[in-house]
Amino acid sequence: MSCHLTVEKLVTLNERYHPFSDLTKDLSDLTDYPPKFHFSAKDNICALGFQARAGSKILDGYRPPFDATVVRKMREADGILIGKTNMDEFGFGTFCTNSAFGVPLNPHDVERSCGGSSGGAAAIAALLEKHVSLAESTGGSISCPASFCGVIGFTPTYGRVSRYGLIDYANSLDKIGLIVRAPSDLRRFLPIISGPDKKDPTSCVQPRLELDGFKVKSVAVPEEALRNLDPAVLQAFEAALGKLKEQGIEAHRVSMPSLGFALAAYYVLATSEASTNLARYKGMLFGVRGGHIDQSFNDYFSEVRSANFGKEAKRRVLLGTYTRMVGFRDRYYLKALAVRQLIIKEYQGLMERDDAVLTPTMPFIAPRFTEIAKMKPLEVYQADFLTVPPNLTGMPHISLPCGYHDGMPIGMQFVAPHWEERRLLDVADRWCGEFKIRFPGAIA
Ligand code: GLN
Repeated sequence: MSCHLTVEKLVTLNERYHPFSDLTKDLSDLTDYPPKFHFSAKDNICALGFQARAGSKILDGYRPPFDATVVRKMREADGILIGKTNMDEFGFGTFCTNSAFGVPLNPHDVERSCGGSSGGAAAIAALLEKHVSLAESTGGSISCPASFCGVIGFTPTYGRVSRYGLIDYANSLDKIGLIVRAPSDLRRFLPIISGPDKKDPTSCVQPRLELDGFKVKSVAVPEEALRNLDPAVLQAFEAALGKLKEQGIEAHRVSMPSLGFALAAYYVLATSEASTNLARYKGMLFGVRGGHIDQSFNDYFSEVRSANFGKEAKRRVLLGTYTRMVGFRDRYYLKALAVRQLIIKEYQGLMERDDAVLTPTMPFIAPRFTEIAKMKPLEVYQADFLTVPPNLTGMPHISLPCGYHDGMPIGMQFVAPHWEERRLLDVADRWCGEFKIRFPGAIA
């Protein structure tokens, strides 16, 4: 069978929606598809033959001389990497408006954001049939864009998938996962990308990945998660709870007070780690050179960073350096670590009775770029209040489309205990067996 996907089609699609930051020039390998398949990788995942810029100007021109473990495994399984997907710089953002390489547009409405930070990954999953996107989440970057683009976002347990070859944002939070169109894609590709890898010690002690053998009977729905939502989101979510009940999944309303602290703890921890990770970019080892070399190291580094880090990256270096400083560390960094433990305990407590925790994914439908332009940084951070909590715990979670408003998709997010990915596959199978996902005009 011959391939329906051509480079010309991809270029046209990229001109219209801009999901890619680097694109293949050659698809001849795909002519005997299937069993071959095409996939993309978020721009912070290294791959031979492509730039890896993580959405940042400071990495412009960086071509890693190796494949990330996930890319290697996908290639070994006959996957063809067609491009690197656009993202917020280093993962810093919720709307993909912080990329140095153009802003991807939502395929359901080009005046709206496709979410972030894995915006391009979600957009391309919505646009292309038979495609699988490798994405990454630190604090919701898989769930958020999946919800805004109306596709399935799967974030595995922390440590399930090797992070070798991932450009770090916050090492204790980063997870590589999948954005796809159907639960069958998860069944096919999760086993491929999962498993221990000596090159990432955090992946080495993990129980075997189970895909079956669990039927979810009840979910906990925290009341705190249903406040401050766009009424359309609340309505779609409540309707989804009704449909889940018909499918044999009972919802128990519970209280989860720690949800109110998750956002503050996350932004302290994530920026603390990010500020140390960004220290390696100084115009010497990777990406851009430039700057005048006839000055002191500090002045040279400052010149390169001032010119090549975006505004949000600079904000996070300042924030994260402050929260780690002697004198402030106890008040911010250590306190945030304690909150993180509290959140883990609360999820575990809820999941003693219920099989998963369920909330909407985002508090509103994908916003218009004109609305985003008016938002203050803190308002942008607040949009993550439902996607950040499971990320702090390292527990696996999935965002599934659950309704539509004004033609725009709305998502719901299930969280399962550590290593219990199979519970998420169970709800995904059952939900998608009945719910009809709408895709924007598919190209191939
Ligand atoms: N929006 C969150 C942030 O800016 C999450 C990003 C992510 O998961 N990479 O930190």
